[in-house]
Amino acid sequence: METTERIVEAYVRYVKGWATIPNVRCDGQNEIDLLAIDPVSNARHHIEVSISISQSFRKLTGKPYDREAAKQRVDKAKQRRTVGFFVEQKFEAPTVVAKLREFGFEPGAYNKVIVTWGWDADAEEQAQAAGILLWDFRELISEIGDAIRGQRTYFADDTLRTLNLFIHAGGDQRPPVGTEVEPKPSNTCGSAPSERTLWVYQNWTRDKAVVHVGSCPYCNEGRGMHAGAGDQNGEWLGPYQDVAAAWVAAENTKRRDVRRCGHCSPTD
Ligand SMILES: [Zn+2]
Repeated sequence: METTERIVEAYVRYVKGWATIPNVRCDGQNEIDLLAIDPVSNARHHIEVSISISQSFRKLTGKPYDREAAKQRVDKAKQRRTVGFFVEQKFEAPTVVAKLREFGFEPGAYNKVIVTWGWDADAEEQAQAAGILLWDFRELISEIGDAIRGQRTYFADDTLRTLNLFIHAGGDQRPPVGTEVEPKPSNTCGSAPSERTLWVYQNWTRDKAVVHVGSCPYCNEGRGMHAGAGDQNGEWLGPYQDVAAAWVAAENTKRRDVRRCGHCSPTD
C-alpha cells in the first residue's frame, strides 16, 4: 500500500469516522484502493488515490483518455492523470463493479471519489458529469492537521503517529496548514443539518449557472470542491433561502445555460 493511500485511509477513518477496507483485488489486474462505509449514515464510498507531485502531472485533467496511448511508455503517466482513465479503468471496469457488488455496493448507490493534487476546469466538469467527487490531497492533510493539533492522544495507527509527530514538531512555530487559504468551517454535516441553503454557481468559462443545495458535495455551502481552479472559472452566489430565490439569482446572471445540479437536484 502506498504512503499516500495510507494517509487517505487515516483521513477517512480518523477525520470522517468511517470504516475502511483497503486494497481490494478484483479479477484481472484491477485493484480498488479503498472502500469506506459511514457507520452512521451507511453511505458507501469507492475511493481511488492518485497523487503525483511531479510538476507536469500534478493536476488531474479533462484531456481525452486514449486506451492505446495509455499503453505507450511515453504517454502512460499523462493518460493516467485524466478523469477518463478513472471512469473507464477504475470506476466502471466490469471486474471492479462485480467486486463492489460482493461488498454490497450496488451501482448508483455509492459515492465515487478521486483523491488527487489539484485539477483543471475540464476535469471538474467531467467528474461531475460522471458522478465522481474530487478531493484535494492538500485539503485532507490540512484537515488531519486540524483534527490532530492540540491533542496528546497516542495513535495506534503508524501513519497518524507519523503525521502527529510532524504536526507537533512544526506546529508550534507556524500558523496551521491552510489558514492562509481560507477560513475553514467544519466539514462535518452536523453543524446545522436542518438549515437548508441554496447556492448558485456561476461559471463564466462555461457560460452557465447551476443551482445547488448547500449540502451537495459539489457545493459544500458555497465552497465548492476546494479546487484551486475555482476562482478563474466562476463564483458562488448565495446562500438563498429557497429554490425560487436561487433560481431568480441564477437567471439574473444571464448565462446561456441555467439549470439545477444533476447530483442534488434541488426542489422546493
Ligand atoms: Zn449539487
